[in-house]
This record gives sequence, C-alpha cells and structure tokens, in this order.
Amino acid sequence: MTDQLRDGHGRSLHDLRVSITDRCNLRCRYCMPAEGLPWLSRTDQLTYAEIVRLVSLLTPLGVRSLRLTGGEPLLRKGVPDLVRELKTGTGVGEVSITTNGTLLRRQAAALVDAGVDRFNVSLDSLDPTRFSTLTRRNALHHVRDGLVALAQVTPGPIKINVVALRDITEHEIFDFVELAKDTGFEIRFIEFMPLDADHSWSRSQFVPGHELLSIVRTRYELVEEQRPASATARTFRVVGAQGKIGLIEPVSRPFCSDCDRIRITSDGKLRTCLFSLTETDLRTPLRDGSSDEDIVELVRAAVWRKELKHRINEPGFIQPPRTMSAIGG
Ligand code: SAM
Ligand code: SF4
Repeated sequence: MTDQLRDGHGRSLHDLRVSITDRCNLRCRYCMPAEGLPWLSRTDQLTYAEIVRLVSLLTPLGVRSLRLTGGEPLLRKGVPDLVRELKTGTGVGEVSITTNGTLLRRQAAALVDAGVDRFNVSLDSLDPTRFSTLTRRNALHHVRDGLVALAQVTPGPIKINVVALRDITEHEIFDFVELAKDTGFEIRFIEFMPLDADHSWSRSQFVPGHELLSIVRTRYELVEEQRPASATARTFRVVGAQGKIGLIEPVSRPFCSDCDRIRITSDGKLRTCLFSLTETDLRTPLRDGSSDEDIVELVRAAVWRKELKHRINEPGFIQPPRTMSAIGG
C-alpha cells in the first residue's frame, strides 16, 4: 500500500479543499473589499483536468473527502461535469461544496445528480437589509430560493454557515435556531477569523462560540454530540426538534491538534493551513511535464512541514496576504 500523507507532527491528512475560482458575486465585509480583488486570469486557474489529476494523485495517499469552494464555486461553468469526473475517476469518497447559494436554484438538481454529497450554504442574516449590508448585494431572496430548491433534491445534509459578528448575529440567533427546527438544517456559527481583505479584524468584532451557546441555551435545551476526529465543529441537537446547531471556534477553541486538512488554491498553490505564510506551487509541475511521482513528492514534502497550529492568539501573529476568498474556505 502507498504510504499515507503525514505531517511532521504525527497527523494524517484526509480532507482536501479545492478552490475552483477566486471570483465572487458577493462582497461579504469579512472577506472581500467592496471593489472586489484583482481576479486571476482564466489561464492562471487550474483547469478541471489539472484538478482531476491532482485529486487522483492524492486519493491513494489517504485523501478521502473533497470540498469544492472559492470564491463562489458556482460562478465557474460546468461544475457538475467536474463533480462527475471527480466522483467516477479519482477514487475520492465524498464530494461537498461550500457556496453562497445565490446560484443554487438553477444548479442544485444538476449538482446532486452529478454526485455532490453535502452542501454548505453561507447565510449570515435572515433579514434582507442586514444581509445586503453584510454582503453589499441585495441577494437574500436568491439564497432562500436556492435553499428551497436544494432541499427538494438533495438526500444529504444541508449546513448553513453563519459568520458570527458582534452586534449583528446576536440579534438573529433565535431566528437561526428556528430555521434549524423548521428545516432540519444544521446551523453552524463560525467565529470571524483574521482573513479579511481589509485586515480590519479585531477581537471586538467576533463573538466567541461559548457566548452564542449561552444565548441559545436561554431558550432551548441542547444536547452536545460526540465530536468525530478532525471535525471542525462542536454540534448540538435541539431537544424535541430536528436540525442542529454547530459551533466552529477556530479563535476561542482552536482545533488544530487533529487537523487533517490541506487546501489547493484556484491558481494551484498547496496550502497546509488557512494561516500559512508559505505555499507550494503545484501548477508549474502540472504544466511542465513533471511526472506523477515528482508531484507526489512535492506534496509529501510540503505536507510534512504542515504548521503545528495557527498563531492567531499569539503576539506577533501575521495575517496571510491572501483573503479567505482567495484561499478557499
Ligand atoms: N463563496 C462561498 C461561500 O461564501 O460559501 C465559498 C467560499 S467562502 C470563502 C467559504 C466560507 O468562508 C463561507 O462560509 C464564509 O462565510 C467563510 N468566511 C469568509 N471569510 C471569513 C472570515 N474572515 N472568518 C470566518 N469565516 C469566513
Ligand atoms: Fe464571496 Fe464567500 Fe467571500 Fe462572501 S464569503 S465574499 S460569498 S467568497
């Protein structure tokens, strides 16, 4: 059997996140500047064939699950075709997508048909005005339509990503719990991380998971579930209802110790941590005729150097130059 991908801290790597575009049709304040970013040219982006080759090289090394993300992944044409190729031709087990949901209404059925197993849909506010302020686009109705369409066609779970922001999220926590109860969705509150384009992150803007949890508990009884190894979230069942609440707490309760994730940006850079300050270029070897063995060795060497943990809570923390949208969350 081929040697599995391991880092120098004893962790095995099983989860791959591939950003398929850096472009986006929203401008979430915690992610993108109002004017957008200088987008990559089409030729700078990995082609679908290059992505499929990379994933095929990584599955024999232990990569089991793959998440497609961006930017907004559904802006790229032919995503269902990519998914079909990944599911049938690479040996990967599960394929999931993180999307802002604005384009889901028309694409949900094709994506499910192609084999997407799980969907994470980002939705930070259920109030149209607040949604527009946060994303700088009037698009809440599109996301809601997308969710309705998705719920009709997917047999898999639907998770809603909510970035928890001070003086915003607190006003809507109960509405989100009601949404979980009504729909069976898992609502995942994510702590705001210093990956914003404006580099304006501060502790005063983020709401720690434990605070959200205590607010929810004032009105609902919750039962915590067992955390599977390497999971990013703590999850809770709402007693007497369907749906769940999840907390992703990278700042207040980092989960680096059993992290099994690596990322590939849309321009083919391998990142071993969201907060990596260095990257490994895979696009050049993919295009210069390098052998599969050479590419695997590059990946192995980079993964071996995977960071032990992020340093958000340490003095001297340096925010990476790439934003979340350019890394692939
Ligand atoms: N555009 C898609 C979307 O919004 O779902 C996929 C890409 S987006 C970068 C992936 C996830 O990262 C989203 O759930 C988004 O809310 C989250 N995100 C972006 N910037 C973040 C930040 N600074 N802190 C925490 N989460 C962030
Ligand atoms: Fe776009 Fe997603 Fe970033 Fe919002 S969080 S700007 S939807 S990439």
